[in-house]
Amino acid sequence: MAFWPSVVVATPAHSGVGASLTYRSELLLRPGTLVRVPLGAREVLGVVWDCATTPPEGLTEAKTKAVAGVLEGLPPLNDRWRQLVRFAAQYYQRSLGEVALAALPPQLRDLSNVQLARRLKRRAQASADGPGPAGDVAAGHDLSDEQRQALDALADAKAPVLLFGATGSGKTEVYLQATQRALFSQAEAQVLVMVPEINLTPQLEARFRERFEPLCGAGAVVCLHSGMTPAQRLSSWLAAHTGQARIVLGTRMAVLASLPGLRLIVVDEEHDPSYKSQEGARYSARDLAVYRGKVESEALEANARCQVVLGSATPSLESWHAADQGRYLRLAMPARIGGGALPRLRLVDMNHQPKGAVLAPPLIAAMAERIGRGEQCLVLLNRRGYAPVLACHDCGWKSACPHCSAYRVFHKLDRTLRCHHCGFTERVPRACPDCGNLDVAPVGRGTEQVEEQLAGLLADVKRPDGGPARVARMDADSTRLKGSLEVQLATMHSGEVDVLVGTQMIAKGHDFRRITLVASINADSGLFASDYRAPERLFALLMQAAGRAGRDAAQSATSEMWVQTWYPQHPLFASLKQHDFPAFATTQLTERLSAGMPPYGHQALLRADARTQQAAQAYLNAAAQAAVGLPHFEDVTLYPAVPLTIQRVANVERAQLLVEAASRGALQRFLTAWQPVLLQTRSLPEARGLVRFAVDVDPLVI
Ligand SMILES: [Zn+2]
Ligand SMILES: [Zn+2]
Repeated sequence: MAFWPSVVVATPAHSGVGASLTYRSELLLRPGTLVRVPLGAREVLGVVWDCATTPPEGLTEAKTKAVAGVLEGLPPLNDRWRQLVRFAAQYYQRSLGEVALAALPPQLRDLSNVQLARRLKRRAQASADGPGPAGDVAAGHDLSDEQRQALDALADAKAPVLLFGATGSGKTEVYLQATQRALFSQAEAQVLVMVPEINLTPQLEARFRERFEPLCGAGAVVCLHSGMTPAQRLSSWLAAHTGQARIVLGTRMAVLASLPGLRLIVVDEEHDPSYKSQEGARYSARDLAVYRGKVESEALEANARCQVVLGSATPSLESWHAADQGRYLRLAMPARIGGGALPRLRLVDMNHQPKGAVLAPPLIAAMAERIGRGEQCLVLLNRRGYAPVLACHDCGWKSACPHCSAYRVFHKLDRTLRCHHCGFTERVPRACPDCGNLDVAPVGRGTEQVEEQLAGLLADVKRPDGGPARVARMDADSTRLKGSLEVQLATMHSGEVDVLVGTQMIAKGHDFRRITLVASINADSGLFASDYRAPERLFALLMQAAGRAGRDAAQSATSEMWVQTWYPQHPLFASLKQHDFPAFATTQLTERLSAGMPPYGHQALLRADARTQQAAQAYLNAAAQAAVGLPHFEDVTLYPAVPLTIQRVANVERAQLLVEAASRGALQRFLTAWQPVLLQTRSLPEARGLVRFAVDVDPLVI
C-alpha cells in the first residue's frame, strides 16, 4: 500500500511552487515528520504537513516521486509548532516552506541517519547525569514587595503580561522565579527566554545557568542565536526539540524553535527593534511569541497556560496600547532595587553654547570632575541612521509635509524633500522658506567629530592616580572581531577606562557599577524624523542609557544624565525629566490616533529592488494599478512609490510603496489577494529591470 504525504520544502517566497509538494511513501508518515525528498536533481529536507491514503486527483504512482528517507530518531514536529509556522507564513505573506525550513537548523539538511543518531546519543549522555527536576526548591532569593506582587499576579494572569519595570527594578529575578515555577509545574515543562542581542547580555545567561543547572542538570540551559556555529545550533535545537533542554535562551530566531513542553515565554526588552526581522520572512518575534502563547495555552487543560511575559522599562506603544485596552495585563515595578534613584536629567541648551561647539563646556567640566573622583562616564552617540530632516536653526522651520503629520526626508542624490508617507516631493529650498536664512541643514548635523573632539577636550584631565583620562570607543566596528567585545567590557569593568563612547550598543544591559554620568550628544535627530517611531526609540534609548548610571545605590544620588539639544522645550524632555514613561506614551498615542498611525492604523510596505530607480518605482506603481478591484481594495490606501532614504545599495536601486488600512483583517485579506498579482506584475514590460520584491507587514521603519 502507498501513501501520499504532502511535504513542505524550502522555497523562496515567490518561486511559484505551491505550499507543499506531494510525494509517495510506503509508510504512513505522521504530520511533522522530517524527511528527505527529491526536488529536481537534489535531495532536500522537508516537513510532512499531511499524509493522504488515496492519491490526490490527477496523481498516480508513476507521476509521483518517492520520499527518499525519514530522519530517524526524531519525534515529529507537533501540531502547535506547525500552526505557529502556518500563521507566520500567512501573516507575513511568505511561503510555508520558507518559514518552516528557516526555523530548522541548517545542519539538519546535511546529516545522514548515522550522524544524526550519534548527535542524539551525545546529547542524551550530556543530560543523563543531571539530577532532574526537584519537587520543591527553597527560593532563598529575597524579593521586594513589588516583585512578589508581580509574581503573584503573573500566576493568575489570563492574558499576556506586560511587565513594566524600571531599569534596575529587578525584572530578571521575576523572570527567574517565573521560570522556576513553570519548570516545576510539570515534568516536561520548558521555558523560552528571548533577549534582543545575546552577546550583550552575558550576565543574564550566567544567572540562568547558575540558578537552573544545579536543579535541572548541566544540559538544562541552551542558547539559540545566529552567532553560533552550525554544529552548536543543531545541538541546541535537538536539545530543545527532544525536551532535554528545559530553558532556551535566544534571540528572535528562537521564537520558532521546536519546544514541545513550552509553558512560559519571556520577551525581555520587548520594545527592541531587533525583534523584527529585516530580511526573508520579516516577522516580529514579539508578536509571534504572543500568538504562540495563545496556541500552546489552547492545547493545555483548562487551568494550565503557557504564559507570555513582555518586559520593558519603556514598552513599545503597541504593547502599551494593548494593555490600555485590557488585552494585556500591565504589571508595574517602578522602584529600583536598593532604593536608588534614577539619575537627574540635565538638559544643555545648545543655543546658548559657544558657536560651533559640538560638546558643551559645562558637560566637559562635569565629566572632568567625575574622572578626577575615579568615576566613569558614558557618552552616547545617536547614530541609528535616521532619515535626515532639514531644519533652520534661526527660526525653527523644519521640512514638515504640508499634507501629513510627518517630516519630509532630505534625499541628497537629487536634492529633494520627499514625504515617505504620501510621496509629496519638492526641491530642497535654497533658503529657509519662513525666514530666508541660508543655513538650512539636517537636524543633528556636525556630530561626526565628537570622538576626536572629546579626546582633545579631556587631554588635560587627570585620574585620581595622576594619569591621563582614558577614552575608549565601542560600536559595531570596534567589536566586530570575536572576543573584542568581551575585552572592551572587561576594561570598562576593571576601571582602566574612564570614558566609554559609543552608539546605542553601550546603552544595553551592561551592569557597570562606577558610571555616574551618562551624556547624550546628539539626541535631536530622534525628535524630528520622518519615521514616526523615532521619538519612541529616542525615549527608550535615553531611559535605557540613564539606567546605566548609578547602579550602585551609594552613587545613585549624585548620578546625572546630560542631554545636549537645540530644542530643550520639546515635550519629550519634560516626560524624560520625570522618568514618566506613561505620560510620554499617552502623548504619543494621542498623536498616533489623530494621524491614524499604528497601533490605530495598520501598515505594510511593498519594497522593490531594481537596476534603476525608475524600474523599481514602475513595478510598484504597476502593482498598485493592478490592485484595483481586488477584495478589500476599498478598505486600503495605496500611496505612490518613493525611493528609500538610502536609495542605492551595491548598485541596486530601492523603492517602496506604503499600504494602509484601518483594520488589520482588511489589510491581511487585501495582501493575500494581492500576492498573486504581485507575481504576475513581475512579468509585465514595466517590471523589466526588477531584481526582487518583498512585502513587509507591520514595518518598523517607513
Ligand atoms: Zn528660518
Ligand atoms: Zn506627506
